[in-house]
Amino acid sequence: MSQKLIVGNWKMHGSRASVQSILAQLKAAQTSRHTLVVCPPYPYLAMCAAALEDSPIAVGAQDVAASTHGAQTGAVSAEMLADNGCRYVIVGHSERRLAHSESDAMIAEKIVRSLSVDLRPIVCIGESYPQRQAGLTETILFRQLGTLTQKLSPEQLSRVAIAYEPVWAIGSGKAAPKNDILHAHRCIRQYLNAYGSHSNTLLYGGSVNPQNAEELLSIAHVNGLLVGGASLNGEHLLCIANTC
Ligand code: PGA
Repeated sequence: MSQKLIVGNWKMHGSRASVQSILAQLKAAQTSRHTLVVCPPYPYLAMCAAALEDSPIAVGAQDVAASTHGAQTGAVSAEMLADNGCRYVIVGHSERRLAHSESDAMIAEKIVRSLSVDLRPIVCIGESYPQRQAGLTETILFRQLGTLTQKLSPEQLSRVAIAYEPVWAIGSGKAAPKNDILHAHRCIRQYLNAYGSHSNTLLYGGSVNPQNAEELLSIAHVNGLLVGGASLNGEHLLCIANTC
């Protein structure tokens, strides 16, 4: 199996002590079969970047502001993330789309800002359960991708990793069925190819764990995994990052 991208999204979990203990586990392992990225909450970013400086594990943020600087209380810019050792950033996670009313246009702006400082964006797309039930999965995926193709050149878009995360599979303990993932990833790949963006890394996310990682990584067009809950356990994350 070729090298994949495994991204751990710690969401709003952890403390200095728990982050230090996961870092110790990750550093003890030294290497993993696949490329590993951890995305801690903002206050722990610099600490993780410093601890992982000499390791192959990269650090990413969970969000970024859509503009460079200014009077935006609570916001963090792409420049600040890069300045603190981040190399990746998750953009447009469904939890942010829902709880913070993030639009596709705002998400595209965040991607542009990130690319301008060489942060690699991981943009999340995917349908909700009612949308899936109504047979709207492709419509939703193409709408979300459509805003990206309006705002980004094929060259810019090719530097974006796309995570297919069906909203109903996140935190539910039930990953999407293999055929659904295959179909969605095929649609995404065709859409991107038609636009001239040929080298995108495509991830799957939603209830990934050490038990299902091998099967998920064997699905055509799946180049990696976005892992939530299971990434809070260093051993589990390493197990996923070492999946054959
Ligand atoms: P989960 O979360 O692995 O806990 O389902 C995935 C995500 O939200 O990125």
